[in-house]
Amino acid sequence: MIEVHVLASGSDGNCTVIECDGEAIMIDAGVSCRKILSLMDQEGVDRDVVKAILLTHEHSDHVVGAGATARKLGVPVMCNPATFSQLSLGNVDYIPFDTADPFDVAGFHVTPLPTSHNAIEPNAFLTQKDDKSILLATDTGKMTFQIEAALKMADIAVIESNYDNKMLADGPYPVALKRLIGSERGHLSNVDCANAIRRTMSDSARQLFLAHLSKTNNIPDLARDTVSEITGIRRLKIDCLEFPGDTRTLKA
Ligand SMILES: [Zn+2]
Ligand SMILES: [Zn+2]
Repeated sequence: MIEVHVLASGSDGNCTVIECDGEAIMIDAGVSCRKILSLMDQEGVDRDVVKAILLTHEHSDHVVGAGATARKLGVPVMCNPATFSQLSLGNVDYIPFDTADPFDVAGFHVTPLPTSHNAIEPNAFLTQKDDKSILLATDTGKMTFQIEAALKMADIAVIESNYDNKMLADGPYPVALKRLIGSERGHLSNVDCANAIRRTMSDSARQLFLAHLSKTNNIPDLARDTVSEITGIRRLKIDCLEFPGDTRTLKA
């Protein structure tokens, strides 16, 4: 069984641990090391299981705790060289990968998939073991072909549902920032997320987790309602974090 521990998700920080058979990878470490360790305790994740920290892109809500956490857990940081060039993580063991080039780590087969975002070379990750596939895709202004294909095969899809169109338009952000968020190099809206889910529906059961919700431009209930209305999937079947400090474990 694969367990996906969503420890933090949103503009205040992102961190997910994917665990199977006593080995795990951490994807992003966008809150402090101290906070990550306490969230791991809260969710019952053993510190010894984490074998590497994989980074999607260089934005601080994904990397701020990466250096300290890598040192504390004694594990390497893995990202593409372009992303690494934007980071200053201090003294860490760095293992590079190339976007779209699959690699094996901690018993998982991992494929970094390109996203469309205002970062130097951002990635989503498709993580596979045995016959199970986990997609973690956030921080993308549009669905790329590769992510949509992965979404279709995923047993668990943790997918960005960043903003409600009306809340973003009517909200307090400056016009330039609103434009960036809504652009193809910004974030995925609730409607974009729902449409991608609808386009990739199949008979197989897929667990959906809405991720990286904006605390300014979105509300968990609104994101779930929008996705439910557009896809026809029952609201109860669509999960997301509900409040700051909330965590979740999904199993496949
Ligand atoms: Zn970002
Ligand atoms: Zn982000």
